[in-house]
Amino acid sequence: MFPYKGYIGKWLYVDLTTGKIESREYDPALAEDYLGGNGFGIRLLWERIGPEVDPLAPDSLLIFATGPLVGTLVPNPSRMEVIAKSPLTSIYGDANAGGFFGPELKFAGWDAVVVTGQASRPVYLAITDEQVELRDAGDLWGRTTPQTEAAIRRAWGDPGVKTAAIGPAGENLVRFACIQITPQRSAARCGLGAVMGSKRLKAVAVRGHGPIHVADPARFHDLAVEFHRRLCANPVYPPVSAHGTPGIVTLMDALGRFPTRNFQMGSFPEVDRISAEALEARAFVRHLACFGCPVGCDKLRRIPDGPHAGTALRSVEYETLNALGANIWNADLDAILTANRL
Ligand code: SF4
Repeated sequence: MFPYKGYIGKWLYVDLTTGKIESREYDPALAEDYLGGNGFGIRLLWERIGPEVDPLAPDSLLIFATGPLVGTLVPNPSRMEVIAKSPLTSIYGDANAGGFFGPELKFAGWDAVVVTGQASRPVYLAITDEQVELRDAGDLWGRTTPQTEAAIRRAWGDPGVKTAAIGPAGENLVRFACIQITPQRSAARCGLGAVMGSKRLKAVAVRGHGPIHVADPARFHDLAVEFHRRLCANPVYPPVSAHGTPGIVTLMDALGRFPTRNFQMGSFPEVDRISAEALEARAFVRHLACFGCPVGCDKLRRIPDGPHAGTALRSVEYETLNALGANIWNADLDAILTANRL
């Protein structure tokens, strides 16, 4: 029995070269020293990956790791780390993503998934609690991440399956490819999608039904409620909850820090056409949130009319409005949203 609550106490090891799948209990001292998430990942990379290992070689590791609060009642308990040696920098790389995959992994009974090797053909890892197997992904290879998630859910007959998947960029080893996490959150930094693609691992799909134990449920509940209360009382909460990261567009522009016209300028004369307010007026449908998050910074958007009428998307961020807007001298909000959807 693992001595610390919040943790499951088990990691799932998968060798794609041999097809071997193992459940391993880990030393509780690792939880004391590293807490979880990227701490676990750093330690594993340090132990197992020398400077000679190419990030895209079979020997490299790809790690999906959670921490003790993931899947519990505290605010924002959705965050999960993906860790590998980065093909972009050849040093340590990690990417953090919200969504629903991390909690589902814990509910399935795993604190982390550690993947090594290289499959001889495209596969995906199917996890339903203790049942874990590699399945053929030949018909998924080449598909986008939403298509992949939908196909796996259809095949399982379960809309509650959560996935971490790559699209064509990861398959083709693009060195800044991301891994998309249900529902379209991104583990986007460091090119970790290319590491997944090099292993011919199209997706990890997980469904869990187990509990996460805490040491003192009543006190934990009271503390979690207090954390929620304090978070919602923070002055930053209302604008971030209302608009998400687009809420800082006008602030950054006013500060002269809104990259414009390929970084030649720091503010955009037509910023009001691509501001959070313009975005809400044009395309807001409803608020969306990751697992257990009281902020709900994500929004469902839909273009109501015009040439791109009906285009629906989520996860329009500050960076979207900048990179596809001001920085390319574009104030056409519908075009920005459509490009984001692509
Ligand atoms: S909804 Fe927004 S604030 Fe909440 S966990 Fe997801 S990305 Fe973070």
